[in-house]
Parts: sequence; structure tokens; C-alpha cells
Amino acid sequence: KMLILQNTFFHLFHKNQPLQKEYIRGISLVIFLIKDRLGGLAMRRAVCPGSFDPVTKGHVDIFERASAMFDELIISVFHNPGKDKAMFSMEERVEMLKEATKHIPNVRVTCFSGLLNEFCKKEEAPFIVRGLRAFTDFEYEFQRALLLKKIDNDLETVFIMTNAKYSFVSSSGVRELATFGGQLKDLVPECIEERVRKHVYKKFE
Ligand code: ADP
Repeated sequence: KMLILQNTFFHLFHKNQPLQKEYIRGISLVIFLIKDRLGGLAMRRAVCPGSFDPVTKGHVDIFERASAMFDELIISVFHNPGKDKAMFSMEERVEMLKEATKHIPNVRVTCFSGLLNEFCKKEEAPFIVRGLRAFTDFEYEFQRALLLKKIDNDLETVFIMTNAKYSFVSSSGVRELATFGGQLKDLVPECIEERVRKHVYKKFE
């Protein structure tokens, strides 16, 4: 490789020399080395999709751990056709997620209506992060990951096991408790607790 590079520079600085095969090989090598270097420096991006209706402490724990594994974590609110009765609008959920993750520097929050594989392609993110709580989660997540792999073989789903402290925490549980005025302190981030409560009061006013 060094010899090829030496020849290249020799030809570059002695322009009167005829263009030789080595020169072209040298240029190709330089391009290859730059590309290789840039490839190594490319951002490792992951998407963490979900309904987040609303974001819970269990979700935030997954975000914190996933953000340490990737250069950038894109948290995206998706419309889940199986969960049609949402408590918060997509915009409200994005706002709450931004608030709850402002201590994590490499996180971006957004929302998307469409197919997850298309979103990943648009964001150049080949990894998908999902949290796993119990066997019931596993069954659903397993099917989802396999279906996604069938649609796009380049996508990898990464599962992060729940923190035992939050294994019982779910958005549906939070919604139910909030509706009946229950304690949310241990379930949702402090910064959004009041917001969830006010939202429920407003509905009943
Ligand atoms: P979805 O509607 O796509 O299932 P959710 O907002 O309910 O979205 O959850 C998003 C992701 O977070 C899912 O992978 C879910 O399993 C995971 N998750 C939810 N609650 C917890 C928790 N307490 N601990 C770990 N992972 C969780």
C-alpha cells in the first residue's frame, strides 16, 4: 500500500511524467482509505418506537440505557392501530418525551405516521430498540421483530430487559390510575406527573 501511495505522490509532484497504471491504482487506494475511515466514523443510530401514551419511568430507563449503546437515539411516537383510544395527542406525547429526556444529550424526539422500516430508512438508523418486561411482551415483540426482518433484512431489533424496579409499569396502568386519581409518583417522571393529572381533571370538568 505504501509503495502505491509513494508512486501516486511521485506522479502528482512530477506532472511531466506520463499517467501510469500506478497513479490510477494509488488514487483508488486513497479513495478506498478515506471511504473506509468515514465508514468507521459513521453515526450508529437507533430508533426507539412506541405509543408512549404517556411516557413512563420504565421507558426513560430504557432510553438512558440505549443512549449509552448508540451515538444517537431517535425516540419516535408512532400511531399504534391496535391502541386506538389514546389519552394524549401525538404532539402532547412528543412534548412530554422531550421534557422527560432533556437530561440525555444524544436523544432526539419526533413522531411518525407510517411504516417503521420507512422511518428507519429516512433517518439512516438500522437499529430498533424495544423494551421487554414479561413473557407476554416477548410473544408480541418476537412476532414484530421477525416481520420487520422479513420486510427489511438490514434492520436489527435490539431488546433491552426491563429494570426490575419498573417491570410492572405500563402506560395503560398509568392511564387507569390517573383516571381514578391514583398516585403516579413512582410510575411517571416527576416533570410530567402534574401534566398527566391536569389532563385528566380537564377531561372531567
Ligand atoms: P407500543 O404501543 O409500541 O407497545 P409502548 O409505548 O407501550 O409502545 O412501549 C414502547 C416500548 O417500551 C415497548 O417495547 C415496551 O415493551 C417497552 N416498555 C414499556 N414499558 C416498559 C417498562 N416498564 N420496562 C421496560 N420496557 C417497557
